[in-house]
Formats: sequence, structure tokens, C-alpha cells
Amino acid sequence: NLSYKLDRAFKTLKGQGQITEVNVATTVKEIRRALVDADVNFKVAKDVTDRIKEEALGRDVLISVSPGQLLVKITQEELAKMMGEKQVDISTEGSPSTILISGLQGSGKTTFSGKLANRLKKQGKQVLLAACDIYRPAAIDQLKVLGEQIGVEVYAEPENKDAVKIAKNAIKFAKDNGKSIVIVDTAGRLAVDEVMMKEISSLKKELNPSETLFVVDSMTGQDAVNTAKTFNEQLDFDGVVLTKLDGDTRGGAALSIRTVVEKPIKFISSGEKMEAIDLFYPDRMAQRILGMGDVVSLVEKAQETFDQEETNRLSKKIRKNQFDFEDFLSQLQQIKKMGNVKDLLGMLPGMGKQIKDLDIDDDAFKPVEAIIRSMTYEERSNPELMNASRKKRIAEGSGTSVQEINNLLKQFKDMRKMMKTMNKMSGSKRGLAGFN
Ligand code: GDP
Ligand code: MG
Repeated sequence: NLSYKLDRAFKTLKGQGQITEVNVATTVKEIRRALVDADVNFKVAKDVTDRIKEEALGRDVLISVSPGQLLVKITQEELAKMMGEKQVDISTEGSPSTILISGLQGSGKTTFSGKLANRLKKQGKQVLLAACDIYRPAAIDQLKVLGEQIGVEVYAEPENKDAVKIAKNAIKFAKDNGKSIVIVDTAGRLAVDEVMMKEISSLKKELNPSETLFVVDSMTGQDAVNTAKTFNEQLDFDGVVLTKLDGDTRGGAALSIRTVVEKPIKFISSGEKMEAIDLFYPDRMAQRILGMGDVVSLVEKAQETFDQEETNRLSKKIRKNQFDFEDFLSQLQQIKKMGNVKDLLGMLPGMGKQIKDLDIDDDAFKPVEAIIRSMTYEERSNPELMNASRKKRIAEGSGTSVQEINNLLKQFKDMRKMMKTMNKMSGSKRGLAGFN
């Protein structure tokens, strides 16, 4: 599973304080392998991972995110770019506008035709489905059943063996009957073959459709890319439809088709229900492939809000074991700037459910802030100074109790201890300075 493998690749970066040439190289190699295993074309996988590496080395790691998280973000950006970045809709010009559906047999053309008709009908359009698969009698029935289900008229001529003529008649019928869109469902074969290509090419030439879509089963892996290439050479289609994304697909086809044929993926289809059709959004697909919860938006938020200089200053102090209450306060401010604390925690993978019923509000840090603000500057930078009479004074000043101050001091001590351990783990010699 691609998501799983990518997740594992990112884990190799976990616990590393920085993105370096060496640790990125290892992770990027694993990302590449995961992509190739998921049927992404090797050259495409190489290009994208080269870009990920370049991006990663050029960016600073914020104190609030791990290098692994940052790399997830970069990977998602690059994957989205690879799939075209923006969502591209179909054209519905012309009266009626004609949408030609192409693809191999079994790719999901007829099902998709029904879904698209349903979608357009819901947008208030007058839609006609044209049954131009002349080879299988059952194909007409299949379309008719779908049409009935969604309340869209189906044009068919069971005796006619000329797909182009049927399509032209359908368009005429549409004009005469106030339909604004004709969806032309066509015949496919099990593999690319000359007769099929001739027929679909002449349909394209004769009908001059406003939109030609190529439908491809996303479960067919590398083959999907090759088929797309052949159809594109013949048809110069406008967009791709990826079907059967509901199965346990490896998803790689989605990633490479765009790069190989340079045509946008316009729809994804995932299921046999008539509602199971979605516009294709590259960023969402990238996120889905990565399956990393909302790490990406967490990183985005952190990047937006965290003041880079302050972050550098703090991380230096942490490395030197000089982190004090003054820094703690500054960090609290930054966390608050990032918005709702509960939302923030909820974005971490696996945290959503656990904190759902917890009562964390943004005021949770208020007493802590009050306590720190009631300390003198000396006390903030040197918590060891704290004694009974100071605590009493601070408790009165902040409207808290000595007990609360003791709790905070203990938490702070634990936090420092953890930072010290982390410094040691990263093998840093810089952690020798400071006190505690
Ligand atoms: P066509 O030969 O290209 O017209 O393909 P069909 O529309 O007849 O679909 C072939 C088979 O795939 C049928 O059994 C459909 O029910 C099924 N199918 C089509 N689209 C999807 C999809 O998005 N998900 C799943 N799971 N099955 C689909
Ligand atoms: Mg069909």
C-alpha cells in the first residue's frame, strides 16, 4: 500500500533535528521506491523525488514541526504539481454541447456516462444520453437502466450499426427536444485495436465534440498509462476520467498519466452508485495518497504564524539547555497565534478521536501565563531561585495557588529534562552549556 510505504519512508526522518543531504537522500529513495511499487512510471517517480529533495534541502525546519512532517508537506506539494495542480472542469460550449466518452471495454464508460448525466442534470441541465455501443445489445439496455434510474432520456437505435449516424441523429434529437447536453457513450474493446480506434476517431472528427473524455480503470496500473498514450495520439482528448478508485488501487496511474499525456484528469469515479463521481483536485488526491491526516495543514498553519527568527532563537536555546520561563511564555504566545488549541491538536494524526471529548479550551493556558507574568525577570530566567516566599508572592499576584505554581514548576522541569534528553539523542555536543 502506497500510503503505508510513504508513511514508513517519512518515519526514517523522525527524531532527526534537521533535514540534511544524508537523511533526505535515504527518505527520498524510499519515497521513490514506494511510488514505483505503486505503478508510477519510473521516470516520473525519479523526477518528482528529485524535486522533493531539492525543495527539502532548501527549506528550514520550524521548531513546531519535525523534518518528517515538513517532508510530507513538500511531497504532497510536488505530487499535486505532478497531477496538474489546479482542478480543470469540462467545457459545455455549443448547443447542444457534445461530450464524447472513450476508453477500453470495462473501463467504466457506460457507468461514468450515467454518473456524469446525473451530475449535469442536478446542475439544472437538460441532458440526453446517446447509446453508441453498437456491438453489444446489452450495452443499450445497460444505459437505459441507468437513464431510468436517474431520470435522463436515452437515445438508441438498436437496429442501426453505424455509430456516427446514431450519434448525429441523437444530436438532432437533442436540438429538437430542448436538450443542452448530449453524452455519447461508445464501444470499447478489451485491448487497443484498429477497428475501435477508427470508430472513435471518426466519431471525434464527425461530431466535433465540445469535450472528449478518456475513461480509464485506475486498477490497471502501468497499462493505464500506455492506453492513455495511444488514445491521446489518436484522439487528442481533452481530459481523463479515473474510475474504480474505490478499490484497493495502487493509485500510481493517477500520478503518471498527467505527466505522460499532459492532459488533465477531470473526474474521479469511485463506486457503482450514480452519485459516486467527483471533480479531480490534485491537492486532495496527493493528500489522499499520502494518507497523513492533516499534517499538511498543520505545517501550513505553523509556517504561516511562526516567526522564523523567534523560532531560530528558541531552538538555539533549547540546544544549549537554556530554555527558560521567558521562552516558555513566548512559545505559548506563538501557539495561541496559531489558533484554537484543540483544533491544532486535532490535526495531528491519530489525535482527532482522542481529544474529541476532552475539554481543552483556549483559556487552558491562562493561569500558566498569569503565573509567568507575575514572576520577575530573574525568576523567569532562573527558575531555581524559586522559594516559598516567592511562590506565595507569585500566587497572590496571579490569582492562583502555590499548588498550581508547584505543578507548573514540575512540568517545566520535566520539559527541560526531555529537551536535554533530546539533545543528547541527536548526538549534539552543543548541549553541554547552560545549567540544570
Ligand atoms: P464500459 O465497458 O467501459 O462501458 O464499462 P462499464 O461502465 O460497463 O463498467 C464495467 C464494470 O465496472 C461494471 O461492472 C461497473 O459496474 C463497474 N464499474 C464502473 N465504474 C466503477 C467504479 O467507479 N467503481 C467500481 N467499483 N466499479 C465500477
Ligand atoms: Mg459500456
